[in-house]
Amino acid sequence: MSKQAIVIGAGFGGLAAAARLRARGHQVTILEAGGQAGGRARAFESEGFHFDAGPTVITAPYLFDELFELFGKDRRDYFQLVPVDPFYRVVFPDGRSFDYVGDDERLFAQIAKFNPADVDGYKRLVEHSRRIFDVGYTELVDADFSKFGDMMRIVPDLVRLRAYKSLYGLVARYIKDDALRQVFTFQPLLIGGNPFRVPGIYLLIHWLERKWGVHFAMGGTTAIVQGLTRLLGEVGVDLRLEAPVERIEVQNGRAKGVLLADGTFLESEIIVSNADPAMVYTKLIDAAARRKHSDASIARKRYSMSLFVGYFGTKKTYPDLAHHSILLGPRYRGLLTDIFDRKTLSEDFSLYLHAPTRTDPSLAPPGGESFYVLSPVPNQASGIDWSVEGPRYMDRILDALDAEHLPGLRDNLVTDFHVDPTYFEGELRSYQGAAFGLEPTLRQSAYFRFHNASEDVAGLYFVGAGVHPGAGLPGVLSSAKVLDRVVPAPATKGRVLSLPEAVSA
Ligand SMILES: Cc1cc2nc3c(=O)[nH]c(=O)nc-3n(C[C@H](O)[C@H](O)[C@H](O)COP(=O)(O)OP(=O)(O)OC[C@H]3O[C@@H](n4cnc5c(N)ncnc54)[C@H](O)[C@@H]3O)c2cc1C
Repeated sequence: MSKQAIVIGAGFGGLAAAARLRARGHQVTILEAGGQAGGRARAFESEGFHFDAGPTVITAPYLFDELFELFGKDRRDYFQLVPVDPFYRVVFPDGRSFDYVGDDERLFAQIAKFNPADVDGYKRLVEHSRRIFDVGYTELVDADFSKFGDMMRIVPDLVRLRAYKSLYGLVARYIKDDALRQVFTFQPLLIGGNPFRVPGIYLLIHWLERKWGVHFAMGGTTAIVQGLTRLLGEVGVDLRLEAPVERIEVQNGRAKGVLLADGTFLESEIIVSNADPAMVYTKLIDAAARRKHSDASIARKRYSMSLFVGYFGTKKTYPDLAHHSILLGPRYRGLLTDIFDRKTLSEDFSLYLHAPTRTDPSLAPPGGESFYVLSPVPNQASGIDWSVEGPRYMDRILDALDAEHLPGLRDNLVTDFHVDPTYFEGELRSYQGAAFGLEPTLRQSAYFRFHNASEDVAGLYFVGAGVHPGAGLPGVLSSAKVLDRVVPAPATKGRVLSLPEAVSA
């Protein structure tokens, strides 16, 4: 098998894929459309404030460590991770708050504050989440689901663990208090899932957070992206920015190479796409070369919601604030129905507020703080005109924060700007502007998600949020591990290279 491999996209999935392919001896070129690596994890700078654009909650840090270990390196020589406590503070509209923390005694006390009877239910819930994790994560997160038989193999476990039921339904069996039910079900929103529809298997996120904790990278998530790109440079991966791929050339059902927007053609029989599979199939591959993934079948799938993210810097600090706050609005299920199903922009909202300067003050000028505020909104199937609604929506959010959570915000704003679903659709090239690719539902998970190895084009592989296991950093980093199972290793004189040989090759 050829040694050359091309990776389309430098999101976390693409960077991890490049590392894994390189460690197996491939000559790797990453082609990234944008001017920065990181994809959703790119950074913005304004008026001396640093903003991570996307992921901020770092879980399962071992998945990063592994990428450095592939080359005998220590991740701590590249970037530092620090634990965040509380993991999140959940604030309710009536002013009550819940600190979601990692140690039992403090967590039980938080639960008892809301409903003492739910402490016992929580103990059973957490045990259930551990059992789901043992199957859904330990056994399946980096499994190859190319064949229907791979799916059938897990059905008995799913049934036994009731992991096919909705996450909310599963949690509600153990927890009676309505506010606590929200505390233990909002997590899938960070990977594009509606808690009322996402299968109970996603309860594993709770155990994952308890097991490895919630971390933050000093310098922001950008520091992780920089650490990974430095590593890739050291081991000879070629990263090309502002190199959008316009077409994947297919001959007789085989990938032959990619055509760049500037007309350059790069030959390769192994192409790993970190770009959204729905966009790759519909925009980069000739319809004649696709049997399974027609435009119509791709249009029938259900795509995750999108996001509105406001970034702002203040010349004032808010020392009482937690690093991660979930600011819940008055409605839960109704709001989610507006976003996922009715696809309307509601008057009320629930927000995630990121205050990284609580952990790393260097991300803002002295005496100031840098923030982002995220609101799940309908994807582009809504028809909302964001050029009109975007600025209004930002104003409404800033007003609500000023009135309820960040007093004096308006008077102390130094900079503010926002991104909306048009950013996900345009700059990040995501189908329907979905922030997390395909919506994680039972019928779009594992075998039923886009496959890591294309069924239509031999030599084409996928990593990232659109494929198994799905969105979120643990998901996309694990998707790159699936490559080890599906991409043939390059052979040298009939044998597979050893790791030291591969790196020096
Ligand atoms: C605002 C926000 C907050 C989030 N918070 C968290 C969090 O706290 N924790 C967490 O774990 N997850 C979080 N997530 C989810 C997580 O960020 C994503 O699931 C993950 O980063 C997606 O990575 P990916 O590998 O799929 O690639 P992406 O980040 O989607 O990158 C894909 C790359 O491919 C490039 N590309 C696309 N098409 C082409 C082409 N034709 N040619 C060349 N390049 C192309 C794009 O420019 C992009 O750089 C968040 C997401 C968002 C949007």
